Amino acid sequence: MYNAKAYSATSATSRLAATRISRRDPTEHDVQLEILFCGICHSDVHSVRNEWSDVMPTVYPIVPGHEIVGRVTRVGSAVTRYKAGDLVAVGCLVDSDGTCPHCRDGLEQFCPNLTLTFNSKDEHLGGVTYGGYSDSVVVDERFVLRVPSTLDLAGAAPLLCAGITTYSPMRHWNVGKGKKVGVIGLGGLGHMGVKFADAFGAHVVVFTTSPRKKEDALRLGADEVVVSRDADEMRKHAGSFDFILDTVSADHDLDAYVNLLRRDGNLTLVGAPAKPLGVSAFGLIMGRRSVSGSSIGGIAETQEMLDFCGAHGITADVEVIPIQKVNEAYERLLKSDVKYRFSIDMASLRSE
Ligand code: NAP
Ligand code: ZN
Repeated sequence: MYNAKAYSATSATSRLAATRISRRDPTEHDVQLEILFCGICHSDVHSVRNEWSDVMPTVYPIVPGHEIVGRVTRVGSAVTRYKAGDLVAVGCLVDSDGTCPHCRDGLEQFCPNLTLTFNSKDEHLGGVTYGGYSDSVVVDERFVLRVPSTLDLAGAAPLLCAGITTYSPMRHWNVGKGKKVGVIGLGGLGHMGVKFADAFGAHVVVFTTSPRKKEDALRLGADEVVVSRDADEMRKHAGSFDFILDTVSADHDLDAYVNLLRRDGNLTLVGAPAKPLGVSAFGLIMGRRSVSGSSIGGIAETQEMLDFCGAHGITADVEVIPIQKVNEAYERLLKSDVKYRFSIDMASLRSE
């Protein structure tokens, strides 16, 4: 065991502050990495504030962060895929049972025995796992990913959650040429959704509550932008979408979007508001439309996504911040004031 620097919150109402945490020494299958950048996901905010208490109550202190890129510092004796000096990444998952039907299908995110990067039972040290707002982390090599060398590291970190969470459902629902695709909410997930839908060749429409984001949406790859508070603008798109990705983090009117789907169209929720969202039965019945959900992506698909990003030069648009600004960043995230992901430069923690 060794001591690592980290930022943690000690209750749902406290600010994140500097602390020391215990990390395990690498076992024979583990990779230890020095964390270089960690993205700030809205899930970090939901978890720190215990907004998902019904589904996954937060254990304090919490060290959030699951968009990690870093450099390998040490590997266990049985590690074959990585060596010291490699640029690697860790996302939302750090372990799973490896034997259940989901794991066998490469869909570890649905494993009933998965271990999340933070706020999951820590099988090695007891207590809960601690995430990426830290100077280092130790992870089983099966959950470590390779970062294409061409990618900017600050912008690559958010691919590990915002990237895979939008890439995976778009692949699953065959987003591509000839498809009309909507993305609701232009935040961390939403802006990655726009980049992927555009790269897959779809006609992309962004729905935003922030008129000031219109130009950015077009620059990021949208073909059209709809300010969702404008009912007339919404009506123009009735019954026309093959697929809509909903990334909104707060309560909102789902029916308004279900009505924009064509026959057999699908709306996939990846945004995870704390309270249930209502859907009118008629909106679904009339047109055989569906509403479904999606959770991050499996390890193989995450590597596929990173390689796709490497080949197409895709990274997140980031505002790099020192960790000392993390509380301010949370407040700004809650006001939809981020372009379009905060990425923490972990050198700022090392110098504390
Ligand atoms: P984010 O950067 O804060 O983006 C959310 C966007 O939603 C905002 O930028 C805003 O876009 C829109 N929005 C916010 N409040 C709204 C409201 N009251 N009504 C309508 N639109 C609103 O958050 P994120 O990091 O992308 O995460 C989004 C959600 O996905 C969170 O709930 C997060 O926990 C969840 N998530 C799920 C998964 C998964 O595996 N399913 C993975 C990661 C994150 P505009 O300004 O454009 O309207
Ligand atoms: Zn996330």
